[in-house]
Amino acid sequence: MRRYSAFAIAREAARYHQGWERAWAAPEPKKHYDVIIVGAGGHGLATAFYLGKNFGITNVAVIEKGWLGGGNTGRNTTIIRSNYLQDPSAAIYEKARSLYETMSQDLNYNVMFSPRGVIMLAQTHHEVRGYQRTAHANALQGVKTEFISPQRVKELVPIIHLDGPRFPVLGGLWQDRGGTARHDAVAWGYARACSDMGMDILQKTEVTGVTSEGGKVTGVETTRGFIGCTKLGMVVAGHCGVLAEKAGFRLPVESVALQALVSEPIKPCMDVVVMANTVHGYMSQSDKGEMVIGGGTDAYNNYTQRGSFHHIEETVRALIETFPMISRLKMLRQWGGIVDVTGDRSPILSKTPIEGIFVNCGWGTGGFKAIPGSGWGFAELVAKGQSPLTDAFGLNRFREGRFIDESVAAGVAH
Ligand SMILES: Cc1cc2nc3c(=O)[nH]c(=O)nc-3n(C[C@H](O)[C@H](O)[C@H](O)COP(=O)(O)OP(=O)(O)OC[C@H]3O[C@@H](n4cnc5c(N)ncnc54)[C@H](O)[C@@H]3O)c2cc1C
Repeated sequence: MRRYSAFAIAREAARYHQGWERAWAAPEPKKHYDVIIVGAGGHGLATAFYLGKNFGITNVAVIEKGWLGGGNTGRNTTIIRSNYLQDPSAAIYEKARSLYETMSQDLNYNVMFSPRGVIMLAQTHHEVRGYQRTAHANALQGVKTEFISPQRVKELVPIIHLDGPRFPVLGGLWQDRGGTARHDAVAWGYARACSDMGMDILQKTEVTGVTSEGGKVTGVETTRGFIGCTKLGMVVAGHCGVLAEKAGFRLPVESVALQALVSEPIKPCMDVVVMANTVHGYMSQSDKGEMVIGGGTDAYNNYTQRGSFHHIEETVRALIETFPMISRLKMLRQWGGIVDVTGDRSPILSKTPIEGIFVNCGWGTGGFKAIPGSGWGFAELVAKGQSPLTDAFGLNRFREGRFIDESVAAGVAH
């Protein structure tokens, strides 16, 4: 595949853009693959990419029931940070954050990574202590964060109101190399690179069954017929429980709607990401000028990919206390995605009771930031049966009580 470059843009401009190739192929399924990945979200595509790049495994299909990136990967608010408390989380999220730094060059695809900085506001004394503890833990983990004063918060975010009626701003956990990236571009960039390595991306193909013989996976039933495989990676986020049931085992995951909205576009007024976990809201400004706003999950399980309107109202009402200027903005769009939440708010990257089947799920409200690190580690797990990045995230932790409690870092936060 031809590389994208300034020269290529100039060449195509001179010939009316007639020479661009398709970014990824639309092949017919083969009878058998070494590895099938179900789910062409960021995690599934990144896994396929690192299977090829790091392990030379390219007889791979990524099977997607809709269009690639049409699940949570194309629905999230794109916050990237790695300021988690527990060591295994800091390791995988920091690996991911560092891969985002060079992703555009690695994929030859502009993912618009914008390390503009992320602040998590401390608005109660409990949060002050919690975030100071996280800053100390991050220092030991080699993750660069710092606890900053309210005055520094105000310097970074001039539109903030420090003395809100319920929750004044008492400081914040600041990660200056956190930020955002263009979510669709992450999926498209990985898809193009996978297709270039000869992998098959099968869109509009739903996996309707999983087959095994003697406790070992043999393939998947799909809406385009049976496709055989030696190994199977299930990477379907909010639908992981449904797919696991088809394979004959259960996962300790609940699926709930998480929603977000954008305002009408306005002039640039905030060039960092701000998260206010006490009031359940967070905000950044997109390159188009829209204020991108999100809150917490719905309180009941469902699969509707919509979310309830009262949640939006609560989130906006709470954020207005800290950002009074947004009270005069109009809402432009609202949407939802189905996120996969575990009891300890940490993901599952694991072998399963069926030999050859691996599961990558449980990223809940915060998996966009993890995509490259998750793909890196999960590819190693699938290829070699073990990875230092994923060891702690096995399913057996729920049986053995070795939880990775990230409920402060990931319960509401993204
Ligand atoms: C509103 C919202 C805001 C968020 N904000 C952030 C944020 O700011 N930062 C952050 O880090 N994270 C955020 N997240 C979480 C993040 O989006 C997810 O954790 C991440 O995108 C999960 O990626 P994935 O590849 O695992 O899943 P997905 O992108 O959902 O991909 C799974 C794919 O599997 C497909 N699939 C399902 N069942 C089948 C089947 N049977 N056969 C074939 N295909 C199937 C689906 O169609 C889907 O495309 C947010 C999520 C939402 C909904």
